[in-house]
Amino acid sequence: MESNPTRMCELLVGLPDVVVLGVDDVAGEPIVVVVESVLDQGWCRECGSKARVKDRSRVTHVDLPCFGRPTRLVWSKPRWWCPAAGCPARSWTITDPRIAWPRAALTDRAARWVTVQVGRHGRSVSEVAGELGCDWHTVNDAVITYGTALLDADTDRVGAVDALGLDETLFFREGPRHHKKWCTSIVDAGGPGRQSKLIEVIEGRTAKVVSEWIDAQPQDWRTEIRWGVLDMSGPYRKVFNDSLGHATQIADPFHVVKHANEKLDECRRRVQNETLGHRGRKDDPLYRGRRLFTKAHERLDEAGEAKLLGLLEAGDPKGEVRMTWHAKETVRQIYAIEDYDKATKFIDDMADETMPIEVQSLSRTLTRWRSQILAWHKAKVTNGPTEAINNLIKRVKRIGFGLRRFSHYRIRVLLYAGHPNWDLLPTITPR
Ligand SMILES: [Zn+2]
Repeated sequence: MESNPTRMCELLVGLPDVVVLGVDDVAGEPIVVVVESVLDQGWCRECGSKARVKDRSRVTHVDLPCFGRPTRLVWSKPRWWCPAAGCPARSWTITDPRIAWPRAALTDRAARWVTVQVGRHGRSVSEVAGELGCDWHTVNDAVITYGTALLDADTDRVGAVDALGLDETLFFREGPRHHKKWCTSIVDAGGPGRQSKLIEVIEGRTAKVVSEWIDAQPQDWRTEIRWGVLDMSGPYRKVFNDSLGHATQIADPFHVVKHANEKLDECRRRVQNETLGHRGRKDDPLYRGRRLFTKAHERLDEAGEAKLLGLLEAGDPKGEVRMTWHAKETVRQIYAIEDYDKATKFIDDMADETMPIEVQSLSRTLTRWRSQILAWHKAKVTNGPTEAINNLIKRVKRIGFGLRRFSHYRIRVLLYAGHPNWDLLPTITPR
């Protein structure tokens, strides 16, 4: 048991080579811990003479919260000067990056801690800043600086990839006209027993920018990619054709089913308009059923099923919404069954001129992407991984409110969804 109160205080403060001069505690204010560097003899860096203490400078850093309260570390450092005649050295102050980097607002340990809170756990910058009692930029700057250093140091983060996924993400809308900015997520889609992760995020969603990125990767890495997972977008198909021609393309089931649901919505709105002459109102049967229709059939209980049939009976005189609903369920079935030939037949059967125009449109899309949709049956790369990544990115976007710079956004999503090796964080040097 330690009995020396000064020593106990230093143990609590936990910083190397300092003595604790005092702790100021004013109600409603951050706790202020004043420390002083242990005074070893200083030596002149120019001429090697014994230096003398000129005075002491005090710098204040935002430190880790202490006992649940924001804390400031006031660090008193000796300013040295060289007494040797004619020596060009002027005065200098010691630095100790174990405590804080020169000109950093946060102590080093606080900076590493906020990087974990925001980068790894996905907490918002403003929430963490609130806990430290400092402003948004102070925390964000530290996360970007330390996060960049971690990602740079983690050279093993992206290993061999079996299935490479491409997905577009809306990064932000800025300006009064809500201008959309798109970026492309490049994903290791994982596979059986393999964790998926975000590999990179790049600005834009054109075939050109994505191909340029892939072409710049090592030849061996590209050769090992067997599957290319994509939404049903022309540009990404072109990327795989141009840059990974050997990989088998797979249409991401999540996007295929989403497309079928969009067609169902289109059909519902058209029939609504044709039968009632106005857009959906809260008492209109088709409008009331809009969520029920897009729900997976097996997730409807008996009452839900009865309600769905009743609403269709009341609002869908020609049975068009019902047929589109069946088409949507058929698309879902394509992925539920194991049998390749049966899945092929599902797609072919949908091409029928007596079907509503929305089903015909869906059928044309499925036919155009037929090989990519059916390739799923060979690869069994499920939509799970890409979908999980999309959800991660969406969460970062939601909590990353205020991020207006792509470079910051990129670091944030890579820290959160790119699974860097966090064990490296204590070893990195921020720049
Ligand atoms: Zn000197």
